[in-house]
Amino acid sequence: MARYTGAVCRMCRREGQKLFLKGERCYSDKCSFTNRKAPKSEVPAAPGQHGQSRKKVSNYGMQLREKQKVRRYYGLLEKQFAKYYEMADRKQGMTGPNLLSLCESRLDNVVYRLGLASSRAEARQLVVHGHYTVNGKRVNIPSFLVHEGDVIAVCEKSRTSEKFKAVTEANSARPVPMWLEYNPEKMEAKVVRMPNRDDIDYEVQENLIVEYYSK
Ligand code: SF4
Repeated sequence: MARYTGAVCRMCRREGQKLFLKGERCYSDKCSFTNRKAPKSEVPAAPGQHGQSRKKVSNYGMQLREKQKVRRYYGLLEKQFAKYYEMADRKQGMTGPNLLSLCESRLDNVVYRLGLASSRAEARQLVVHGHYTVNGKRVNIPSFLVHEGDVIAVCEKSRTSEKFKAVTEANSARPVPMWLEYNPEKMEAKVVRMPNRDDIDYEVQENLIVEYYSK
């Protein structure tokens, strides 16, 4: 499947927010979002020749940017994201929070949230390479959606590898969300409940995404 393989830091500058796409670098002072702040501005200029000029953004523009931001945050393709919107719309409750909950429940995101990968892109690759199990069975599908009660673990062979030791050590300071119960000794976590709106730790106006798709 086609994936974006270009420079990722420009995405953060485009969305005017840190999207944490580069692992450890995002938490260090090497992050180009913090390094490139435009004069008299809290955020760096958008990428490209006309990035400096700040035009008034239309309603549609704001909706589009919000949708792109969340899609990029989770590393999803357009079609995949639209599919999650449809699923969220069909589910009981509010569509916006449902959509965020679905994105959070992806196995690659769970692995990243647990600090078992440095970025979502790395998590995706490690899942594809079969390093994790769900309820004791190896799962190599990054879009696999976890459910309440599921147990996610690093498979036995990978647990002792130098790679995983280094990754978990580097990410040990990252807080694990409340909806996951993590046992670092076993490299194993349980989904104690499904993620809700309060668990979303980045700035997002999901109502704009709903407006974008409701047209
Ligand atoms: Fe974004 Fe991370 Fe690059 Fe900073 S280092 S601009 S947070 S991808």
